[in-house]
Amino acid sequence: MNKSRRSFLGIAGATAGATVLGATTSRAQASAVTLKLATSWPKGFPIFEFAATHFANRVEALSGGSLRVHIDSANKHKAPFEVFDFVQQGIYDMGHTAGYYWKSVDPVMSVLTTTPFGMNVAEQNAWFWGGDGMALMQEAYGKYNLLSFNAGNTGVQMGGWFRKEIKTIADLQGLKMRVPGLAGEVYAAVGAVPVTIPGGELYTALERNTIDALEWVGPHLDVKMGFHQVADFYYTGWHEPAAELQYLVNQEKWKSLSEAHRAVLKTAMNESSFLMMAEATQLNAQTWQDLEKDAPNVQIRSFPPDVVEALKHATNVKLQELAATSELAARIVKSQQEFLALVKPWTNLHVLR
Ligand code: CA
Repeated sequence: MNKSRRSFLGIAGATAGATVLGATTSRAQASAVTLKLATSWPKGFPIFEFAATHFANRVEALSGGSLRVHIDSANKHKAPFEVFDFVQQGIYDMGHTAGYYWKSVDPVMSVLTTTPFGMNVAEQNAWFWGGDGMALMQEAYGKYNLLSFNAGNTGVQMGGWFRKEIKTIADLQGLKMRVPGLAGEVYAAVGAVPVTIPGGELYTALERNTIDALEWVGPHLDVKMGFHQVADFYYTGWHEPAAELQYLVNQEKWKSLSEAHRAVLKTAMNESSFLMMAEATQLNAQTWQDLEKDAPNVQIRSFPPDVVEALKHATNVKLQELAATSELAARIVKSQQEFLALVKPWTNLHVLR
């Protein structure tokens, strides 16, 4: 074989190889599995949308294009509080949402998002990943033909916006406040009136005195909603020390996927969850720094000690009631309380800086 023949073969071989690879890639793309995901957030919602979008991009990259995620925001499907049903019924394969929205399905879902006066982010992550948290969460959702995975933590949430200062527990009597989850029940127990209002109507409700107070998330998202324009008192939080969003997955769809695709999903979910926490912390810090300049009317407050004690007492009563709702709820409440007792002596140590 002469040199030119060898080179020709070499080139031909390389070309043939490329063709085979190209065919493999296009076959993977042609047979790509696409998962439909519904979020509970409007299009363009900062921080939360970042997590879902990052997840979808990473799924495609990590799977070499053989697995894709198509995202529909609440603007598209129009039902942010029906994502549970969508995924359970297989209308969507996945959801990016928050577990405490499903408290009417099972009250224990509330504390799988966050527990008032409970674990902070580092502690809750340790409970999910080192303790029993993940197994207990799958047990809770498995009953409904679903899987649930961590999907991004907001970090500690602010206590909310109040038009009047809260000086004593009497100031909470009859106070109409938008606040979801177990915290709403705690407010009710101390005399306030929790109400449910869609996010898009909150500003107007507070401006027109339909409600007296509301909690939303934290500085970045709250200021974007304009709440500082209609309320002066901004309270530090107790009710959502570590609100973890969730990816809901239809169990039948999950079983139909290859092990490799399940591994891609788990990796991309974890990565987006971790990065959302970083995104939330950075953006909240920036907004917090600028708050005095951007909203000089705003007065930062913490609830007085006697109000905190009353809220804490009511929380403990509500957790006991929750534990009585099912054997699983009892195990979850106990597991969280035992884990917090284990971890607190360590996490409470001073950080020198
Ligand atoms: Ca909230």
